[in-house]
Amino acid sequence: MNLHEFQSKQLFRDFGVAVPEGRVAGTPEDAKTACAELGGSRWVVKAQIHAGGRGKAGGVVLAEDATEVVDVAGRLLGSRLATHQSGPAGLPVGQVLVEQPTAIARELYLSLLVDRAAERVLIMASAAGGMDIEQVAAQTPERIIQVHVHPAAGLQPFHVRRLAFGLGLEGGQIKSLGGILSGLYRLFTTCDASLVEVNPLVVTEAGELLALDAKVNLDDNALGRHLHLQALRDPDQEDAREAEAKAHELNYISLDGDIGCMVNGAGLAMATMDLVKLHGGAPANFLDVGGGATAARVAEAFKLILSDAKVRAVLVNIFGGIVRCDLIAEGIMQAVREVEVAVPIVVRLEGTNAEQGLKMLADSDLAVETASSLTEAADKVVAAAASGAASKGSSE
Ligand code: ADP
Ligand code: MG
Repeated sequence: MNLHEFQSKQLFRDFGVAVPEGRVAGTPEDAKTACAELGGSRWVVKAQIHAGGRGKAGGVVLAEDATEVVDVAGRLLGSRLATHQSGPAGLPVGQVLVEQPTAIARELYLSLLVDRAAERVLIMASAAGGMDIEQVAAQTPERIIQVHVHPAAGLQPFHVRRLAFGLGLEGGQIKSLGGILSGLYRLFTTCDASLVEVNPLVVTEAGELLALDAKVNLDDNALGRHLHLQALRDPDQEDAREAEAKAHELNYISLDGDIGCMVNGAGLAMATMDLVKLHGGAPANFLDVGGGATAARVAEAFKLILSDAKVRAVLVNIFGGIVRCDLIAEGIMQAVREVEVAVPIVVRLEGTNAEQGLKMLADSDLAVETASSLTEAADKVVAAAASGAASKGSSE
């Protein structure tokens, strides 16, 4: 789960990490009140969306007076902001963060993440902050300093020194970085985060360190331990279909292709996507209905796949190990009747009661094609999607 910048910054404060004074506003009037509360004569207005790259996309604006703050808030609030990270459709702006402007001397990069291969928390830092860190990593990897923290020993003074010297910090700044790192490391472990990123961490003109941006990703599997963090979820920022899937305990990831895939088991789902690709198609989604799929769950999964307008054909690939194929067939028939299905469906069932399930589908009056092997199923669905696309193209 992702947090908004203002939520991440509140966590930073809770863990003793310095951030600019700010107020979150949901209306232009709130933004005006924020200016009065913060004081000063200039403010930064920042669109709150679950994506970075806002600065370049016009989502971070330095306003010269309160009237401009109100204007900018009015323009951003209720709009969608598209950045290079959000995808072309952008994300809705429901709130803006109004902050005191900081006089910046240098922009640094700092992040903490889980390095799975090393089984450690990895701290990354770079003096090339404020820009796309992926680009720095690709073009000038020597500009990124990496430090692994042993989970038993925790953060050590030598970690801090290595990072501080690498960033070119001096004097009291080294001690400040130590405070920031220990706060962020505690935040990371206490909140079960998977990523904490500060880009930029700035050195102000007064020589102080301040987190100007804040990004926190939390591990969904650990959210049950953090009710106060669960409450920070903003469903408006999430893919509607992925949120719907979560509500039904389905593992669904939206993709760019046109073949909807419904599979049980993550491994089989990956193999199915590979097979679709191998046969010249492109999957519209990853969907694992789980080992204990019921007819109702299959019906929900079907509705989910078909709610995606890109889908031109659906491939159902179920291995009945725990689940019975006749129940799956029932779920498919139920769903196809409930949702008006206008695209071809190819079904491959294997395992417990597979023959019975396939017969039920064949005997029904539904336009469902069955396949007896995985290769045949992939072939059929790719052909079906292609002919669907061709006929759609010719009618337009
Ligand atoms: P994003 O990463 O989404 O582009 P940031 O929060 O990093 O958004 O802001 C982009 C840039 O705007 C920063 O690199 C910094 O130069 C500037 N900026 C952000 N917040 C402030 C602030 N409070 N005062 C001054 N400049 C700021
Ligand atoms: Mg940033």
